[in-house]
Amino acid sequence: MSFLIEKFLEYVKVDTTSNANSASCPSTEIQFDLANIIVKDLELLGLKDISLDENGYIMATLPSNCNENIPTIGFIAHIDTAPSFNGTSVNPRIIENYSGEDIVLNSKDNIIMSLKDFPELSSYAGQNLIVTDGTTLLGADDKAGIVEILTAIKYLNEHPEIKHGTIKIGFTPDEEIGRGANHFDVEKFGAEFAYTVDGGELGELEYENFNAASVKVKITGRNIHPGSSKNKMINSILIGMELNSLLPVDQRPEYTEHYEGFFLLTDIKGDVEHTEMEYIIRDHSMEKFNTKKNLMTSSIEFLENKYPDARIKIEIKDSYYNMKEKIEPVYHIIELAKKSMEDVGVVPKIKPIRGGTDGARLSFKGLPCPNIFTGGHNFHGKFEYISVQSMEKAVQVIVKIIQNLSK
Ligand SMILES: [Zn+2]
Repeated sequence: MSFLIEKFLEYVKVDTTSNANSASCPSTEIQFDLANIIVKDLELLGLKDISLDENGYIMATLPSNCNENIPTIGFIAHIDTAPSFNGTSVNPRIIENYSGEDIVLNSKDNIIMSLKDFPELSSYAGQNLIVTDGTTLLGADDKAGIVEILTAIKYLNEHPEIKHGTIKIGFTPDEEIGRGANHFDVEKFGAEFAYTVDGGELGELEYENFNAASVKVKITGRNIHPGSSKNKMINSILIGMELNSLLPVDQRPEYTEHYEGFFLLTDIKGDVEHTEMEYIIRDHSMEKFNTKKNLMTSSIEFLENKYPDARIKIEIKDSYYNMKEKIEPVYHIIELAKKSMEDVGVVPKIKPIRGGTDGARLSFKGLPCPNIFTGGHNFHGKFEYISVQSMEKAVQVIVKIIQNLSK
């Protein structure tokens, strides 16, 4: 078995589920289990300046092997897997020479990955797929990214004729709970730019993501015995429902795609006296993002005027921004990734991310950081799978990026 697949199967079996309810960093101690294994592998690969800090961040350097003046480049992936699905006791299976038909993940529980639900499966006929046993996620997100980076380094070690500049490697904890960039020391990392290897299907190349904000609304009404509440009761639940009715119905996640942003009511709880609501707001366009935030505030103002005896409090907090504005001034790093994909026979698929990445926040911390594919599908669930051939292509793309940069 190849190093790439052997390491992948080893890594996915180590539980690294993160936990949004934990305040520590890493959010779960178990992330160190894999981090320690990775550090040993980095040592075996002969990397320099290997560090694993108390927050669970790994950094390492492959020094330049020539005297040319080549920009320092970085590759980043994340150690944790999503808490939204079981990541304990992952039991991966390789399907060699996939037939292109429905895949029975678990015959006992009758868990089937069907072409009807996942039509793109048919395009993988003849390839080798790695799937779950239907009881856990796979963890290709993002252990595939880690092993693809390591395999690219191994390839460079075995091919000293490939001249390259300094290469930095960073593996972060807690990406899945939005904290992967929190303690990432951009200065220590020391790269001019980097790529997160954390995307999905073959060819994905992403440098646009949402602008994101979270909204908390607290409404205080007035509870009075319903038998004697005429002209006195103020029902905070109903004000909350009215607030929601003031937001455009067509701008909800279930009705939007591509560059369309949305409002999402993520939580509501209330009684007559008190109601609390939580929303998230998303839009790729900064202008439309601000318009959405303004609509939220003006809707609250309207309700305050309509119900002067109610108290309505709103708190809007920006979460992250679209990295596009940080990538466009260094667009050559997109061109570099695009050309490198084409050079190894991969068709680049540039599309906006309908979410955020650690790379977005790193870009705002001074490390421009687009995202490239790992080859996986259906992240964060039992139908997660990855094509071995796509993983091999990801390795080739990483090597080619490094090679093309030194030209
Ligand atoms: Zn990921």
